[in-house]
Amino acid sequence: MTNPEKTTGSNFIRNIINEDNKSGKYSGKVHTRFPPEPNGYLHVGHAKSICLNFGLAMEYKGKCNLRFDDTNPVAEDPEFVASIKADVKWLGFEWDERLFSASDYFEKFYECAELLVRKGKAYVDSQSAEQIRVNRGTLTEPGKNSPYRERSVDENLKILREMREGKYEDGAHILRAKIDMTSPNINMRDPAIYRIRRAEHHATGTKWCIYPMYDFAHCISDAIEGITHSICTLEFEDHRPLYDWFLIECEFKAPRPQQIEFARLDLSYTVTSKRKLKELVSEGIVRSWDDPRMPTISGMRRRGYRPSALRDFCERIGVAKAANTVDMGLLEFCVREDLERSALRVLGVLQPIKVVIEDYPSDRIEYIDAPFHPQDPSLGSRKLPFSRELYIETDDFMENPPKGYFRLVPGGEVRLRYGYIIKCREVIKDDLGNIVELRCTHDPDTLGKNPSDGRKVKGIIHWVASSQAISAEVRLYDRLFSVAAPGGVKDGDYKDHINPESLKILGHAKLEPSLADAKPEQRFQFERLGYFCLDPDSKPSGLVFNRTVTLRDSWVKEHKS
Ligand code: ATP
Ligand code: MG
Repeated sequence: MTNPEKTTGSNFIRNIINEDNKSGKYSGKVHTRFPPEPNGYLHVGHAKSICLNFGLAMEYKGKCNLRFDDTNPVAEDPEFVASIKADVKWLGFEWDERLFSASDYFEKFYECAELLVRKGKAYVDSQSAEQIRVNRGTLTEPGKNSPYRERSVDENLKILREMREGKYEDGAHILRAKIDMTSPNINMRDPAIYRIRRAEHHATGTKWCIYPMYDFAHCISDAIEGITHSICTLEFEDHRPLYDWFLIECEFKAPRPQQIEFARLDLSYTVTSKRKLKELVSEGIVRSWDDPRMPTISGMRRRGYRPSALRDFCERIGVAKAANTVDMGLLEFCVREDLERSALRVLGVLQPIKVVIEDYPSDRIEYIDAPFHPQDPSLGSRKLPFSRELYIETDDFMENPPKGYFRLVPGGEVRLRYGYIIKCREVIKDDLGNIVELRCTHDPDTLGKNPSDGRKVKGIIHWVASSQAISAEVRLYDRLFSVAAPGGVKDGDYKDHINPESLKILGHAKLEPSLADAKPEQRFQFERLGYFCLDPDSKPSGLVFNRTVTLRDSWVKEHKS
């Protein structure tokens, strides 16, 4: 298969690092971090950020920290912490001993805040939240100074300490940076540093009742950890002057970390907003965070995507400044290409119909040697049993076929993959007229002889011998949304555009016996049907397979011309 895209997308951040290495800014050091907030499961957008941060560190023989950005005690949960660690590991990255949390630095943040107060660079504001909002101004109008802006250093220090000690109600005061209420950049209009919030923190418990704001905590965390390139998404571009201001005013020495923004990943036919993903789970629209239709890393993993496919996808899309939406088809292409190389080929019938080979002895079973991969003998082979009674796909027989239908028809012949040519002699129906069985004969000289038997039979279909078939449930997935941009729909809610066909459960599939030994992380190609993997719901008494992706690749066709 030819690649429709060059394998490596461009990445402007490499140019910045190369420049820094040339100028000696960080003495050739590259130290990045991936800073998730533990308030949800990671999704495909985070995968891009993980591959970028850990990937650059590997490429430049540097380091990448995993840091939990846990400054907001309300939304955070140890379940999310555990899932995030598992997801980063599964993607193939290691933080070694460098697992940190912003909450490790709570004391240091507070010291920095006192330093700012002592320097006259921060003050306690006692306006109500509403007054603060009104006085912040707008994009076109400057803000107004708070009446508390000129409090003395001593008074500010005293109230700040009392805030920490828990003397005040939530919302009674906030600590703000003293920058410029008339700045054209709203982020610089005396942004908040600390707010009072009586909430139990998953790591520090009830030790603190004041919590630092993201903009304050993030840059200081970066500086403490010796981060060189602090990579974040584009919506923080206007926060960069504040990032630099805090580090300078808190007296971190050069070379200080630099913030670099890139365009977030948006993927068509799905949503990558944690809030929306959370809603899909809590409202029961999907079964769980790792539902195979979810764009979460755990969902994609359960669906059967391999980490190598996701890393390849993240490399191909590249890293740019300009926002754009990536076609879901490209992700599916990467998944197919990865599985094409690695998945074992097997036979399974999803919607079975019974076939009886009348001229095949009922006490006979033949074992046909069939390779697991047509191009890769190292993947081995298995013995496929062939017997008088088989299953074929309901769709592979038509009583009144249209022109150009090359599968089984009354009186017609078809080849069974690896097996014999069979001919349909009779169609058996129940009282309601439903086809329940096909009576066929076989040509004994054709076993495994395609094409050496010289017979011109166009159709080749898959099958499973009924005597040793394994019954299984098969779950077929399609895109979760039926419109390309569910997040940006004008009329109505993104939830109005859920694809009603996104999950189809087939309860009576019949699979070849080798699949009884399927392992959780193994991937299979069910010939002619797509790629499949075992679902964690599977039990020895009831196997459950997920279809990862179909074989059809519309993305390549559409992008070739
Ligand atoms: P929240 O609204 O909860 O902050 P978030 O998506 O920003 O949501 P974080 O946990 O803060 O979630 O994200 C961790 C890192 O992943 C950040 O550095 C962020 O820039 C990056 N990231 C998040 N979403 C995307 C995306 N769609 N594409 C690329 N990077 C992303
Ligand atoms: Mg964030």
